[in-house]
Amino acid sequence: MNYYSLNHKAPVVNFKEAAIRGQAPDKGLYFPERLPAIDKELIKNIEVTGEAEIAFRVIKPYVGGTIPDDALYQIVSETVNFPFPLQSITDRIAALELFHGPTLAFKDVGARFMSRCLGYFLKDEKKHVTVLVATSGDTGGAVASGFYGVEGIDVVILYPKNRVSPVQEKQLTALGKNITALEVNGNFDDCQRLVKQAFIDKDINAKRFLTSANSINVARWLPQQFYYFFAYKQWQDKQTAPVVTVPSGNFGNICAGLLAKSTGLPLGHFIAACNANDVVPSFLQTAHWEPKKAVATLSNAMDVGDPSNFVRIMQLFDQLLLQLKTTLSAESISDAATINTIKDVFDTTGYVLDPHGAVAFKAMENYLAEHQQSKGFILETAHPVKFPDAVQQATGKEVRVPEALQSLMQQPKHAIAMQPDFEMFKSYLLG
Ligand SMILES: *Cc1c(COP(=O)(O)O)cnc(C)c1O
Repeated sequence: MNYYSLNHKAPVVNFKEAAIRGQAPDKGLYFPERLPAIDKELIKNIEVTGEAEIAFRVIKPYVGGTIPDDALYQIVSETVNFPFPLQSITDRIAALELFHGPTLAFKDVGARFMSRCLGYFLKDEKKHVTVLVATSGDTGGAVASGFYGVEGIDVVILYPKNRVSPVQEKQLTALGKNITALEVNGNFDDCQRLVKQAFIDKDINAKRFLTSANSINVARWLPQQFYYFFAYKQWQDKQTAPVVTVPSGNFGNICAGLLAKSTGLPLGHFIAACNANDVVPSFLQTAHWEPKKAVATLSNAMDVGDPSNFVRIMQLFDQLLLQLKTTLSAESISDAATINTIKDVFDTTGYVLDPHGAVAFKAMENYLAEHQQSKGFILETAHPVKFPDAVQQATGKEVRVPEALQSLMQQPKHAIAMQPDFEMFKSYLLG
């Protein structure tokens, strides 16, 4: 299996090369040259197939022999070694809970898979790799946890001082070992600027082999397909293809779901649930792609003004918008509706949604009101405890901190103070 750049100005590469590079040299996103058909036996026997086995069979064709079967099986077993329960909320809407991993958000699966793949690819090479990542909150924690203790890899995370939640900060700063957190006296854009500049700096690149753990990396994107298989495994009424609603920001997760469907997983209609950042809902209506500056919302992990993975979705549908619209719809949900939804769902069912899941639930409810025969599931991408203010405001109840998190919250914080100044960052990396 090879990957080409969607900008079509870079050489074709295998999975190993695509995972190490992240982005193609022409700045395009890598896309698989052909789409493998899912083994029909896997679908038929999915209810009696274990999670690691499902994940292994789904990802193997994409890895294309760059990792031998036994090592790949080991990697996926470690990637999916926590539960992915499908919980019903109402008689027509269930939630696939993706927050039972170490950092309580769905990015754990992609980060764990990618870190272990890189660890495998680099173990025989003499070079030491530095993963550089700027984070506004969730990504950094998942990457830190995913790469923690992986031989041959140092992780340097830049986060904006005073702008991540207390839980998120601990997830970045309490691990230590090969994970270093830089607390930047600035905002997320400053962090991102420092990282981008480091990638093109000759002195730094002569001294360190840098890579990014960006969400467009194929090794983070492709394993997100697993969620949809795990949901289908637990879906009771196999005669009715489930409607799938995905809270979407950069559109990597939903793109993985659409890929799973295109290659044979029997899923129904897809809904991209967005917050006020409505580039995709507008595009589906007007056929004009108009990136905007991201606006801040309660579902902050989806505050993306120019979703980079959408080009992959267009490619899946051969760039045909009309065809895409038969499978995908999109809706923008306001913060007010998000809070109301958390409240309503809690009052009527007792289920506590986080703001991202609430955006998805509302979009799903609107769709089902017009499709009386349908039912389906949402992806619940974060634990409500990561967004305690919004959830407490809506439910009037305190969110209980899970045990795993309580011990993390006791750990001391280790962070290096950094000014938003490239020379200072550079001397840190060279020092
Ligand atoms: C990153 C994230 C999203 C958005 O996922 P994309 O793949 O970027 O669309 C949704 N919810 C949570 C909690 C996230 O961390």
